[in-house]
Amino acid sequence: MPGITIYGAGQSGMIAAINLARDGYDVVVHDREDGYGGSKIYNPSAHTTPIDVERTSEYVGVDLSSVFHASTAMLYLHDTPLRWPGSLYTVERGNRKGSLDTLLYAECEKLGVSFEFGSPLEADELPGLPENTIVACGLIPSAYEMLRVPYLRWYGYVSRGEIGFSDYSFIWFDESITEYGYLSSVNNYYFNLLFSIRPVSREALRGYEDFMRRNEGIEHREWEYISGAVPIARPDNPRLFQGDIILAGTMAGAMDPFGWFGILGALISGKVAALAVTDRGKALEEFRRFNRNFASVFWFKNRVFYRIRPHVTGIQRLVNAVGVERTQAFAEFAFDRRVPGGIPGFTDMLGCY
Ligand SMILES: Cc1cc2nc3c(=O)[nH]c(=O)nc-3n(C[C@H](O)[C@H](O)[C@H](O)COP(=O)(O)OP(=O)(O)OC[C@H]3O[C@@H](n4cnc5c(N)ncnc54)[C@H](O)[C@@H]3O)c2cc1C
Repeated sequence: MPGITIYGAGQSGMIAAINLARDGYDVVVHDREDGYGGSKIYNPSAHTTPIDVERTSEYVGVDLSSVFHASTAMLYLHDTPLRWPGSLYTVERGNRKGSLDTLLYAECEKLGVSFEFGSPLEADELPGLPENTIVACGLIPSAYEMLRVPYLRWYGYVSRGEIGFSDYSFIWFDESITEYGYLSSVNNYYFNLLFSIRPVSREALRGYEDFMRRNEGIEHREWEYISGAVPIARPDNPRLFQGDIILAGTMAGAMDPFGWFGILGALISGKVAALAVTDRGKALEEFRRFNRNFASVFWFKNRVFYRIRPHVTGIQRLVNAVGVERTQAFAEFAFDRRVPGGIPGFTDMLGCY
C-alpha cells in the first residue's frame, strides 16, 4: 500500500490520517510531543466555536457529536453584557477523556494509523520529504518559519483547570488588548485566555481579573504567559500547497481572520488535505470554496474593525444609550441574515455553507 507521512497529530492531521487510512494508505503521523493531545503549550484546553456539528461530521467522516457541546455565551463591552446572538459549541482539546483528540486518536488506532511521537519536523528534513507529505503543525511559530508561511504573532495570559460548571463561555472587550479575553468551559474544565497582537501587560491582566471577579464571580490562582502564530498576516494567507508540501489545519490558513475561530476550519481542511493526495484539482476547488471570504474579512478586520476597536468605551456608551435589549434584538436579526463571514466550513451563522 502507498505510504503517507503527516507531521502534526492535532485535529487536522488526524482527520487527514483517518480519511487516507480509509482510502487504503499506510499512514504515519509524526508529532513533536511525546503523546497525542496536541501542543502542551496550548492543551488541555476548552475551545468555543460556531459549527454545524452534523454537517461537519458528515464532511470529515467522523461523528463529532459526542465531543461538541452546545454552549451559552456572554459578550462584555467592559461591564456591559450582551448575549452571544448565534449558536456556539464548546469542545475540549488535549488527551483527557471526552476530548476531540481522544476521539480522533481512537479512530486512528482502529484504522491502523501509526504514530511516531517525539518526532518533530526539522528544517533540514524538508528537501527529502516523501511525495504528498502533509504538514499540520497548528499555531507553532517555528513551523511557519520553517515553511515560510506568513504569520502574525500573538501573546496572551492563559489559565486552565477544573471548574464547577460546563458549556458556558464569555468574551471581554477592553482597550488594553487588541483582541479579547475569553473563558470557555466544557467537561468541568475551563480555559481562559487574554490575548493580543501586542505583548499583554500585567496591568491588562489585573483589569481582566477585576472584571471577572465583579461580573462572573471567578478568580484564577495561576496564569501563564504564552505566545503563538496565526496565519493572518496577509489576505492571501490561505494555501493548500507550499511548494511540494500539502498544508492542513490552521497552518493552511483555514481560520477565521476576524475572531480567529480555528476549530472548524482545521477539521474541514484535514479532509481537504486528504483529498489533495487523491485529487489535487478537486481539493483546490474545495479549499477555495471554504476560504472564499478570507481576504474580504481580513480587510474588514484591518481597515474597519481595528479603527473602531480602540473605542470600547464609546461603543459601550452607544449600546447603553440604545438599550441592551434593543442592541441584542438587532444583533440576533443580523446573525439570522447570514452575513458572509470568514469561518471556513459549516456554521449555522455568518453564511459559511
Ligand atoms: C490558546 C488557543 C486558544 C484557541 N481558542 C479557540 C477557540 O476558542 N475557538 C476556536 O474556534 N479556535 C480557537 N483556537 C484556534 C484553534 O484551536 C486552532 O486553530 C486549531 O485547533 C488548530 O488545529 P490544527 O489541526 O491546525 O493544529 P493542532 O490541533 O494545534 O495540532 C498541531 C500539532 O502539530 C504538532 N507540531 C507542532 N510543530 C511540530 C513540528 N515541528 N513537528 C511535528 N509536530 C509538530 C503539535 O504538537 C500539535 O500536536 C485557539 C488556539 C489556541 C492556540
